[in-house]
Amino acid sequence: PEPFLSVRDLRVRFSTEDGIVKAVDGLSFDVERGKTLGIVGESGSGKSVTNLTILGLHNPKTSTVEGEIVLDGQELVTAGEKEMEKLRGNKVAMIFQDPLTALSPYYTVGRQIAEPYMKHTGASKKEARARAIEMLTKVGIPQPKTRVDDYPHQFSGGMRQRAMIAMALVCDPDLLIADEPTTALDVTVQAQILDLLKELQQEVGSAIVFITHDLGVISDMADDLLVMYSGRAVERGSVREVLRAPRHPYTWGLLSSMPRLGGDTAQALNPIPGSPPSLLNPPSGCAFHPRCAFTAEAGGDRCATDRPALADGRAAACHLTADQKQRIFIDTIQPR
Ligand code: SF4
Ligand code: MG
Repeated sequence: PEPFLSVRDLRVRFSTEDGIVKAVDGLSFDVERGKTLGIVGESGSGKSVTNLTILGLHNPKTSTVEGEIVLDGQELVTAGEKEMEKLRGNKVAMIFQDPLTALSPYYTVGRQIAEPYMKHTGASKKEARARAIEMLTKVGIPQPKTRVDDYPHQFSGGMRQRAMIAMALVCDPDLLIADEPTTALDVTVQAQILDLLKELQQEVGSAIVFITHDLGVISDMADDLLVMYSGRAVERGSVREVLRAPRHPYTWGLLSSMPRLGGDTAQALNPIPGSPPSLLNPPSGCAFHPRCAFTAEAGGDRCATDRPALADGRAAACHLTADQKQRIFIDTIQPR
């Protein structure tokens, strides 16, 4: 069967004053219905751009998009703005890190939840208001019948995040894109919001693309994982496979820089040396080579000249052999 969302060899380029930025550089992945794909990577790895592109929210004047994005049989790269408008907030919805990018300060929370519902389902004002109250109840807003008439500033940060989720889910989207949706929240509220998302996903059966830099959140939320670096996917597999036995040096670095549960946070952090590459002038060969500690094992010059491909299925885009990937991980990365 066809995957629900299929992205093939996606390339997104921006023209800037300084030149062409290759924000996404040949990216492929699939997401099944009812499943969650986690995308991790540092900022500038292309994860947010990928998802804005799926939603058709990139600026067509300054960017070019090549490749395929097929959602439930519909090609989105070539779709017009009218078709995208029909999809957004309806079949595809997005939740962001900052609810104030989605919620307007000028309208009540209830009206903002009701509006996409009226637009996409043709419901009356009265029906849409009832639906808004239903959604606020679902996302756990207390006294929803009164709160529906509040403005966003009358909500706490956690409540605004819930309201944005209510707005995103009001039309039962088949695909939900969540871009760092809990990063700004404290740990308790974060856990509540993540549980809420999982519950709503079970109810609606949506596919979720969950973008984060937090591997702890990913292990809790995602079924499959895609690790991005410099606009490319460098590793892919089930969350279990990638987190237990990662095969790419960049993923090793990400894992080593992750605070241990119950450990001394400050001490456990071991960030990857160097900084993320410039997307204006990405490194040749493997884009990770200037920061990689294993280029000698992989055959030296090769890393700087040949771009490693990412195979289908469980895979890592790296010139190390399968044996090397396993041995280096077990001998030098895992025991800490
Ligand atoms: Fe490191 Fe070379 Fe593998 Fe890239 S291809 S991750 S530089 S060993
Ligand atoms: Mg981002």
